[in-house]
Amino acid sequence: MLVPSCIGAAPRARSGPVSVVVVGATGSIGTTAVTLAERFPERLKIIGVVGRERADPLLEAARRCGANSVVLSEESSYAALKSAYSTFLAKLSSEDLPASRLSLEAGPESVTKLVTRSDVDVVLAAAMGMAGLHSVLAALNAGKRVALANKESLVAGGALVQESLERFGGTLIPVDSEHAALFSLLRNVRFDQVKHLVLTASGGPFLRRAVNTLKEVSIADAVKHPRWSMGAKISIDSATMMNKALELIEAVWLFGVEHQRVKVLIHPQSLVHGMLEMHDGSTIMHASSADMSGPIGSALCFPESIPDLIPSLSLPQLENLVFEEVEGARFPAIALARGALDAGGAACAVLNSSNEVAVHAFLRGAISFDRIVPLVSRALEELQFAAPKTPTELHQVDREVRAKVSEWCSGSF
Ligand code: NAD
Ligand code: MG
Repeated sequence: MLVPSCIGAAPRARSGPVSVVVVGATGSIGTTAVTLAERFPERLKIIGVVGRERADPLLEAARRCGANSVVLSEESSYAALKSAYSTFLAKLSSEDLPASRLSLEAGPESVTKLVTRSDVDVVLAAAMGMAGLHSVLAALNAGKRVALANKESLVAGGALVQESLERFGGTLIPVDSEHAALFSLLRNVRFDQVKHLVLTASGGPFLRRAVNTLKEVSIADAVKHPRWSMGAKISIDSATMMNKALELIEAVWLFGVEHQRVKVLIHPQSLVHGMLEMHDGSTIMHASSADMSGPIGSALCFPESIPDLIPSLSLPQLENLVFEEVEGARFPAIALARGALDAGGAACAVLNSSNEVAVHAFLRGAISFDRIVPLVSRALEELQFAAPKTPTELHQVDREVRAKVSEWCSGSF
């Protein structure tokens, strides 16, 4: 169970702002973190930013937050980064002088070097997909604190992350809003008094749509989330409910509970993010506006908190809060996650990799929306592997699943 390691986390040795590296700095979470560093410079100092291959937005992120290290995880993008930097320098104003002294690097070893630097307090893991596992493990293997948004790393590599935490004494603080809410609730109760953890789900854009029309949904409709503004992949995951399936597995690893103790409820307003059902019959809820600044800022500054991080809820203005059971026939992804946890071996990694491939196939127009979850289901049925013991073994599983599911995506299944 990871929660006690967070609760017991020692205060930072240094005073002054928390020194942060943001992996995935050009994405939705990363950009929110950059904005927070601009708003609260006395609390947060971003010293390094990592992206995958797009140089221009990463340089702009570095300029905004004053980071002096810029790293692209794709080694082959180094030349493009250098050339983008020349153009970027030419446009800088005199106030942006720190941005004229940036260190530029590319490749996985440069990512490792940055996230393990001795002056880094917290690594914000906000890359998209299992590709983010590399930097999560690199940071944890150096005993760092990781604020984890990148749920796919934990879903696919939960056992490797757990092993690293136990061996090297790092800490994992949840950023995903539901897990951040549960983490905050769990710090104030005795764990043996908790019966169930409850994750809420908005239900996404197709909560009320006739299931037999899901074949026709467009990419634009599927990425349009009713409550949250997020990257494309997680928006599609929210529309299929695979996001909650991944979050169920994430909760099992973070809080060390069997999946039977984690419930999922639809809550379309997205104001209550997590709940604890206690053995004594009471329920404790965590509510806040649907704004990722809250969980990101809290995770980066933990155990401190930031005054006025997000606007308070105006309780008298709330509509009636609605909670509904998840309809299994509409959203089969949750049952797939429970099945994968029961199956063990590499099943959760298979679920994650097959979903990543299917979602990207949908996003490039290669398959219809209603094929995403059946492709994951087929992968779980047909592709079984022993539990990976090392990152190399996990990447081998990932490669095999990607190859197979890509083949299925191009066929008539
Ligand atoms: P996004 O697609 O907007 O951004 C992804 C970022 O990751 C980009 O900066 C991209 O350059 C970077 N990236 C991709 N591969 C990388 C690699 N190998 N190394 C380094 N950087 C890489 O995604 P997002 O919506 O910000 O989500 C990021 C993660 O946070 C996902 O795992 C998602 O599930 C999780 N999350 C997001 C939200 C949200 O509100 N957006 C909420 C909860 C959890
Ligand atoms: Mg979430």
